[in-house]
Amino acid sequence: MITFMPDPGLLDSPRRRAWPGLSTGHAGPAGEPPEGTDVVIVGAGPAGLAVASALWHHGVHDIVLLDPAERPCERFFDRIDLLGQRVLRSPYEHHPGVEGYRDCELLDFARLHWSRLTEVERREVRMAQAGHRSVVPVDVFEAYCRHLVSSHHVGERTWRATVQEVLPEPDTVVVRTDRSSVTARFAVLCAGERRRVAPSSWWGGGPPPDGVSYWDEPVPEYANRLVVVGAGLTAAHLVSNALAAGRQVHWVIRGDAERYQCADVNSSFFRPEGRARFDRVDWPDRLELLGRYRRASIMFEFRPLFERAEAGGGLVVHRGRAVAAVSAAGDGTAFVRLADGDLVTGERVVLALGTTPATGGDLLPDAVAGTRDGWPELAGDTLAFRRAPRVLAVGAAAAMVLGPAARNIDGHRVATARVAAAVAEGLRRGAPVAGEKALAVARG
Ligand SMILES: Cc1cc2nc3c(=O)[nH]c(=O)nc-3n(C[C@H](O)[C@H](O)[C@H](O)COP(=O)(O)OP(=O)(O)OC[C@H]3O[C@@H](n4cnc5c(N)ncnc54)[C@H](O)[C@@H]3O)c2cc1C
Repeated sequence: MITFMPDPGLLDSPRRRAWPGLSTGHAGPAGEPPEGTDVVIVGAGPAGLAVASALWHHGVHDIVLLDPAERPCERFFDRIDLLGQRVLRSPYEHHPGVEGYRDCELLDFARLHWSRLTEVERREVRMAQAGHRSVVPVDVFEAYCRHLVSSHHVGERTWRATVQEVLPEPDTVVVRTDRSSVTARFAVLCAGERRRVAPSSWWGGGPPPDGVSYWDEPVPEYANRLVVVGAGLTAAHLVSNALAAGRQVHWVIRGDAERYQCADVNSSFFRPEGRARFDRVDWPDRLELLGRYRRASIMFEFRPLFERAEAGGGLVVHRGRAVAAVSAAGDGTAFVRLADGDLVTGERVVLALGTTPATGGDLLPDAVAGTRDGWPELAGDTLAFRRAPRVLAVGAAAAMVLGPAARNIDGHRVATARVAAAVAEGLRRGAPVAGEKALAVARG
């Protein structure tokens, strides 16, 4: 059997190119958001941007986006840049633009900016045009998001605020922030995901000991010997950055081996037939499917790099080893104690344990959030909370409806189509559209 190894060079791509005609920053409107609006969107990441853009095409322009960040998608690109990630894992067809409205899609956008692309990037565009797997530069994706922000007037509708409570009333939703309150007819939760914290048994809970940090914090330059815990793409970036900087790396993986695959979920879940597998089964089977298919994995392109580093001794991989405890000596040394008693020592331990979805449970009243096994119960065709039909969710929170791809950019596209249609129709009728009728009505 021939094993094909994609070129590690595909992981590289220039960052911070100038994109003509696109503003680099966004100050947002001055002052407080209006007291009343049609729709509040909580979170202006790729999911919130997708919802705002889709609503714009539905003729819904009276919207307010709330996010503590200064510009839309800031948290997404900050995390990516902190990890030194230069290309997306998802292909060109996964993007927050709106389909079916003659919008400029991500692939069109890349082609329009052909002269700014490198030879390798152009080849990937051709691969995408031919329907093959392709690698998207972060730079292109960010410029495209900025294009969406300006072409759908999202910037002037985004206010800096942290939402603290979302309180559904019979005819409205009151959204309380750290600065003021906004009353809306509908609210869409697009709050993304948070870092997954270590089990309290590792050091007793709370902030990590000195010398131990999480993937979304900077790795100090002094750390010549790094211990990375985790088996996903985030861990892979931490390992490859450290190797590139000439550091010795110990990599602790709970599974028997690292898993290499193109996308982070089985590609069938990005297609209707994959989502149908979810539609057909009950809640316990959905939970089982989510657990089985949302497993940590790494892009193929890393494989030659890691195999070379391991053979050369710069990388030591501790496979099939569960972590029992993490501690620090106070002299600049940090330790990972493995379940079999072995100790892995470094000047820094970085935990890349993945993320957990913001499901709305911390914003909505308990009686409304309806959380079951950590997931909200949402109507399948509208993604509205079953006990609060004026509140809808896009992003990771929709995973029990849309399957594991809900947590990816393409899942936001599918969720957005349902949510935007339901909200637009609800505004037109003056009441939420319940159950199966929502999409049928909205699509005529
Ligand atoms: C490093 C990294 C790389 C990734 N690469 C890919 C990829 O290549 N392809 C892919 O499909 N997926 C990728 N993902 C998965 C990715 O998380 C999602 O696809 C996407 O970022 C999620 O968008 P989002 O808008 O749901 O979340 P986010 O980007 O996290 O945006 C959520 C926003 O909500 C805001 N927010 C949260 N709470 C509140 C509150 N209470 N009040 C107001 N605002 C709030 C946050 O500030 C944030 O701006 C990656 C994830 C990470 C972490």
